[in-house]
Amino acid sequence: MRVISCLFTEHNLWLVALAAVVCVSGCAITFSLFHRARKRTGLQKHGWSFLTAVAAGSSIWCTHFIAMLAYEITAPVTFDPVLTMLSLLVAIGGCALGFGLCAINDKRCPPELCGALVGIAIASMHYTGMAAYHVYGLVEWSAAYVAASVAIAAVVSALAVRESVRRPRRHSHWVAVGLFVVAIVGLHFTGMAAVHVIPMGLEGASNKQAFASIAVAVAGVGLMVIGTGVAAYMIDTHVSADTFARLQHMALNDALTGLPNRAHFSEYLELKLGRARTNEWTVAVIGIDLDRFKEINDLYGHEAGDKALKIIAGRLAGLLEPGEFVARVGGDEFAAVKRYTQMEDLHNFTARLEKAVHEMVSFDAFKGSTGGSIGVALFPQDGSDAATLVSNADLAMYRAKVDKDRAVCFYEKQMDDAARARKSLTAELRHAAENGEFELHYQVQNTVSTGAISGFEVLLRWRHPQRGMVSPAEFIPIAEECGAIVEIGEWVLRTACLEALAWVAPHRIAVNVSAVQLTQGDFAHTVHEVLVETGFPPSRLEIEITESAIISDKARALHALRRIRALGVTIAIDDFGAGYSSLETLRTFPFDKIKLDRSFAHGLERDVQAKAIVRAVLALGKSLEIPVLAEGVETHEQLSILRTEGCSEAQGYLLGRPGRIPAQALPELAKAS
Ligand code: C2E
Ligand code: CA
Ligand code: CA
Repeated sequence: MRVISCLFTEHNLWLVALAAVVCVSGCAITFSLFHRARKRTGLQKHGWSFLTAVAAGSSIWCTHFIAMLAYEITAPVTFDPVLTMLSLLVAIGGCALGFGLCAINDKRCPPELCGALVGIAIASMHYTGMAAYHVYGLVEWSAAYVAASVAIAAVVSALAVRESVRRPRRHSHWVAVGLFVVAIVGLHFTGMAAVHVIPMGLEGASNKQAFASIAVAVAGVGLMVIGTGVAAYMIDTHVSADTFARLQHMALNDALTGLPNRAHFSEYLELKLGRARTNEWTVAVIGIDLDRFKEINDLYGHEAGDKALKIIAGRLAGLLEPGEFVARVGGDEFAAVKRYTQMEDLHNFTARLEKAVHEMVSFDAFKGSTGGSIGVALFPQDGSDAATLVSNADLAMYRAKVDKDRAVCFYEKQMDDAARARKSLTAELRHAAENGEFELHYQVQNTVSTGAISGFEVLLRWRHPQRGMVSPAEFIPIAEECGAIVEIGEWVLRTACLEALAWVAPHRIAVNVSAVQLTQGDFAHTVHEVLVETGFPPSRLEIEITESAIISDKARALHALRRIRALGVTIAIDDFGAGYSSLETLRTFPFDKIKLDRSFAHGLERDVQAKAIVRAVLALGKSLEIPVLAEGVETHEQLSILRTEGCSEAQGYLLGRPGRIPAQALPELAKAS
């Protein structure tokens, strides 16, 4: 009762309210700063502890000082400046000790003890402040009240700090703040109730007006200190949130295009499938692969490649509607997810994706379209988990890549098996050479006019331990795709040279060379090396190359061919008339032979057009002075037509099937031919 009556009868309540504002706001920021001090490490921990101590000490001191100025007394009052300052330092120092020790999280300093230290600091500050307060009168102290005030401060502060540290509940911050306010206010007014002043004559000498002004000024400075703490806290919160968001963005998004990355895609797909399972949704998983991205990269440089990717990624991101998701999952690979109910909506989505990858891309001097292949797998019918769906969408996508007429393919079961077989073949192909499963067959080539042997084409055979003979038409494309062709091709070249060296008659051999061999590695060097190693005469070697091999990287291919030719090796253009066949190719490189594709020989007897083309190619060869060899000659009639038309050489089942050891190379037949 004495405390309450002390508050209401002996104080200026306006100033008390001001003290309360400073006290509550100061305590609130103190515990926010304290929380940060506990969470941080190293120098940051010290920094936050310092801010906590300054905020707490200043709030306590300001509350006390304003309340002292609010204390209305009839006797004159003065303040000792040194002791007043000292009381501020005691407050800040004591709080630094209490909060600082607690922030270190040392087992030897439980939060209750640290809180009690802070409470004792508040009390010390109060009584130092009281010592600075000089009243002209008789001052009587009640020891019981003083003891009670110190106890209140220590116990309630201990509870406040404990609440803040031990119970990370939702409201514990405000509970701690409340308790701390109670500790400060409780101490102050219990401490004030402990004093009884009997004025000595000099009435009303103190200036109320001046005291009120000082109180307001002190409150202003106190609030500014508190404001500084609030600002520091807010800046830190903002920076942390910013950094977190940036790190999260970096972890989940692709740096180049800004699209979600593979990790993000997997996470998203798992989440979607989880929901789809419970809600019985249908979800499409879509794989997208650019078709001609590598060309842009190779021909125009990586910078151009990056630009093209950015443009396409921008389009993909821009076409999304709610419930659609697209990510960049690899170099030129993207993936999308869509929840759909109507098949029509899904088709609409794939059409938009198709448009995005097929539209022209233009920047700087570049203008072109990368094109793209799209594969779709559906949940639940095509797979129940993310891994299966993604792999099936990929299989569908590869089919779309092969199928020139369709850019979008949906997964189909039987295609899965074919692709799987292809995969296992790829793995086996890598070991075939080591296991000695390859062998070479030779097919004779004859001069049409005389029937004499002009050479042998070398044809690769794979004797597979389980499947038996695998056709080169089946495994060569696979070897090209996985790059194994480079090694296999070198084996073919070396083995053919060695085998042909043992022949009785020094016939020429024609070795097939793939586009991949010509554009990857240094093929001309390989040829040179093999010739030197085996001692095979270069004039006996011919390289067969299809036109598509030159088209893919013209400059490089032509350079390699010129170097091979410089060794004395001849070069034939294979399958002429079947693929691209531009006269331009014949003009840019002086081939030594044109091999007319076997489809023309087949058409010779019935097809008037085939005959016309054969005639035209023969005329062309004649005028360019390049001999023409007709492939696939199976009948006498075909051969006689070719003879009349003036074809120089022929090859085909009629003249000889490909075989292990060319019979014509054996001694007795060599003499006969
Ligand atoms: P290609 O270079 O056009 O080889 C000629 C193909 O026609 C051979 O098939 C040969 O057996 C076949 N052939 C020969 N005469 C006739 C005929 O009268 N009628 C018919 N219908 N076909 C005939 P093969 O041996 O299955 O080779 C297929 C393709 O595989 C070759 O086509 C060639 O492009 C490729 N290839 C074979 N060996 C190698 C190699 O060592 N390296 C590379 N890169 N490719 C090879
Ligand atoms: Ca050939
Ligand atoms: Ca051919």
